[in-house]
Amino acid sequence: MKYISTRGNQQQMDAAGAIIAGLADDGGLFVPEEIPQVTAEFIAGLAPLSYKDRARQILRLFLTDYTDTELVGCIDRAYGGDKFDAPQVAPLRNLDDVSVLELWHGPTSAFKDMALQLLPQLMCTALQKTGEQKQLLILVATSGDTGKAALDGFHDVPQIKIQVFYPEGGVSQIQHLQMATQVGGNVSVMAVQGNFDDAQSGVKKIFGDEVFNAHLEAAGTRLSSANSINWGRLVPQIVYYFSAYADLLQCGKIQNGDRINFTVPTGNFGNILAGFYARRMGLPIFKLICASNANNVLTDFLQTGYYDRNRAFYKTITPSMDILISSNLERLLYHLTGDTAQIKNWMQALADEGRYDVGEGMLQRLQNFFWADWADDARTAATIKEVYAADGYVPDTHTAVAWAVARAYQRRTEDRRPMVIVSTASPYKFNDSVLQSLGIETAGQDPFALLDRLAAINRDSIPKGLADLRQAVVLHKGVCTQDDMKAAVLAFSQK
Ligand SMILES: *Cc1c(COP(=O)(O)O)cnc(C)c1O
Repeated sequence: MKYISTRGNQQQMDAAGAIIAGLADDGGLFVPEEIPQVTAEFIAGLAPLSYKDRARQILRLFLTDYTDTELVGCIDRAYGGDKFDAPQVAPLRNLDDVSVLELWHGPTSAFKDMALQLLPQLMCTALQKTGEQKQLLILVATSGDTGKAALDGFHDVPQIKIQVFYPEGGVSQIQHLQMATQVGGNVSVMAVQGNFDDAQSGVKKIFGDEVFNAHLEAAGTRLSSANSINWGRLVPQIVYYFSAYADLLQCGKIQNGDRINFTVPTGNFGNILAGFYARRMGLPIFKLICASNANNVLTDFLQTGYYDRNRAFYKTITPSMDILISSNLERLLYHLTGDTAQIKNWMQALADEGRYDVGEGMLQRLQNFFWADWADDARTAATIKEVYAADGYVPDTHTAVAWAVARAYQRRTEDRRPMVIVSTASPYKFNDSVLQSLGIETAGQDPFALLDRLAAINRDSIPKGLADLRQAVVLHKGVCTQDDMKAAVLAFSQK
């Protein structure tokens, strides 16, 4: 299978090339030239398989240049051993009226692990396959969660280094500990004086500095990124939509062919787009329900066809969804139009004016697949409380946004098809907001005391990655200014 750019240059790549490159030369995103189709027998065949074997069946359809042995090795290193604290990797929890797809059993307790455990393996294998001799240096600017998930996925992966920049004082105490205690011979973690935008624009400047990049390349280092526009981060996410369906088949909740709905808490549109690919491949999904927080640019878009990022930016209790530009929409628009000139125009308008309008016909096509709504912080907190009271289940804040929107969907459409709520973080990860939602005072409390408190309510134990932070040793204490970042990258590339 070949990969092409959403913006229409004639570049064609194998999956390995697309995964190493990240972005296409014309600034577009790589998409598969055609979407593979599966049959009902294929789907039935997934039901008795383990998550790893399901992953193998799906990934081989897209990563056709990887051998079976290579894929099995990548999948084993990503999801095997004791990396995930649930044997099913992405377990489906059936409650009375909904099923919850728990994507947070990985090392950092959030759904980013599903992709960021596999991406480094796919990249490393791609380097070997293509005979690339240079080392890759992955640069990440993070407001907290992605940094740790990337560090955990990339540490000690051969031929790759990873350097993470986060805003000094701009991440939670737990997030800081998660990153600053990261082990591995190929990792660097630096605090940047300033806010997240300072860290992010510092990284962007480095990527855009051609002279500096040429200098690094001559010395044997190629810069790359691990953000969610990389095909290697998207493709692992398709698997769990199939896996959820297979679990529903396996437990007899549905018959093969029954259509089901998924509600997805959405930010950059990566997670829900993977659901779109699954549907296009033939998985019987009726609607993908896009749930947003107060930064509801996607709700407006899917309701009106008008994307407009010129609006207030809110900080919410669902920080991983505080986003106004959802990069992965570009892939969706490509698959619905196939018209690269059109995509280029829309993306140019987005860059110049912060807005674009896809028109009535396209809106109807979007609404064939998607339904959208949003929940504010108060609704989110109330939902946590209600779900806990009704089901004894404690969802995290992001998951609660999805829950609130799933209920709104069912109320307004009276669609009673089986509903899967895609749960993107463990409640322990956002314990402070979760406890407050349950009516518990948290101000001034030690973060580990809060974890203990939640464990008592939830009647289980704190995830290992978070519990271990109590004893972990801080290894990374470096602080720099935005202007020093380039020197830090150079120094680390030579280490
Ligand atoms: C990243 C993230 C999201 C948003 O996912 P996208 O793929 O960016 O739409 C939602 N919830 C959590 C907890 C996340 O970490």
